[in-house]
Amino acid sequence: MAMTEELIENKYIEMGISKEVYEFGKEIEQGLKERFDRIDQTTEYNQMKVIDAMQKCRVSAECFQATSGYGYNDIGRDTLEEVYAECFHGEAALVRPQITCGTHALALALMSNLRPGDELLSPVGKPYDTLEEVIGIRPSKGSLAEYGITYRQVDLLNNRDFDFEGIRAAINERTKLVTIQRSKGYETRPTLSIARIKELISFVKSIKPDVICMVDNCYGEFVEEQEPLEVGADMIVGSLIKNLGGGLAPIGGYIVGKKECVDNAAYRLTSPGLGKEVGASLGVIQSFYQGLFQAPTVVSGALKGAIFAANIFEKIGFPVIPNSTESRHDIIQAVTFGCPEGVIAFCQGIQAAAPVDSYVTPEPWDMPGYDSQVIMAAGAFVQGSSIELSADGPIKPPYAVYFQGGLTWYHAKLGILMALQKLMDAGIVTKDFTAANVKDL
Ligand SMILES: *Cc1c(COP(=O)(O)O)cnc(C)c1O
Repeated sequence: MAMTEELIENKYIEMGISKEVYEFGKEIEQGLKERFDRIDQTTEYNQMKVIDAMQKCRVSAECFQATSGYGYNDIGRDTLEEVYAECFHGEAALVRPQITCGTHALALALMSNLRPGDELLSPVGKPYDTLEEVIGIRPSKGSLAEYGITYRQVDLLNNRDFDFEGIRAAINERTKLVTIQRSKGYETRPTLSIARIKELISFVKSIKPDVICMVDNCYGEFVEEQEPLEVGADMIVGSLIKNLGGGLAPIGGYIVGKKECVDNAAYRLTSPGLGKEVGASLGVIQSFYQGLFQAPTVVSGALKGAIFAANIFEKIGFPVIPNSTESRHDIIQAVTFGCPEGVIAFCQGIQAAAPVDSYVTPEPWDMPGYDSQVIMAAGAFVQGSSIELSADGPIKPPYAVYFQGGLTWYHAKLGILMALQKLMDAGIVTKDFTAANVKDL
């Protein structure tokens, strides 16, 4: 064995991974070379896209200075918004620390572009949980419903295709905005590829050309070479503590797209008359630039981790979504263990491999808004950041865990091997790498 290889193996063993688990992982990894090469190519392309946008917008050291107060003439903030617009093919962008999270960015985009009497349509089924309250599907203070904005939803067909006839029937003279969620989030439907988003938007626009097509881009950024604005979307929206913050942005959200849509959002975020002119960037702007710069490689690490895990756990006999071979359009991986102990052991492994808070042991607990106990693993530099390696699972059948992130492939790999080790220590995976409770799956 070459010396470095021996050092690596010994280090894993020293950190609590058994020789058997290490070697099992190594074999799986060797079978993934071609897929990893393809991810590296996408990363290379996206990395150049980011650098090219930064060069075209003449990013300079001056851009990194903190501003305070009103933030008039903040060239760092204004240039960053040009970089986002350039990189993602929008006319304009709003990228701000004052946008507190992904839900806030989505709520802002919706509330600023819809008026009383308008209707919102989701042609891809139920949106992300937190949007139910934004829209008013679940009654909530300040929802779109309270302002007289109605909502219609067309579910996917049983075969997961778009229900084109249903969508045609749902579009009416009040339909103003169509929201398309790229990632499956925590639903079981497949994540939408850019090609499918293109097909859907073309169909919607063929019925009503002036409808605004918004894509909830969370978890999908830089997974493919193209982004939704390149295939007809009018607006993309997301969080900076997911893909595009590259793990460095400590807060923030973005909206990129048609100038009118972005302006509407800016006048809602700050105030009519003020719009994008105010909003100091405080001290975080450099991390926004650097995070975007790192984002393609960070997303690549997270994707490799997700694929590695799918292959490991599928081989052992646990159902995984997406499966070991299918193409990826976001960074989320689900694994079903069929028993609460499996979910718990997995999350404890992810936690034990974290750079931060590795010594705490996560336990299931009652969380507001959930109808069962939930366990979460996160040892993150940024609180709640889900581009960092993190996992969670509700303690109810089918006992599935959802995990995502990993700022580097090596950390994702360690986390997954540690999770496998804990599953083996708990007797849920046998010594010959099969699922002990296979009858429950
Ligand atoms: C995470 C996420 C959101 C909400 O973002 P938060 O930052 O958690 O508020 C919305 N939609 C999708 C698809 C997401 O993944």
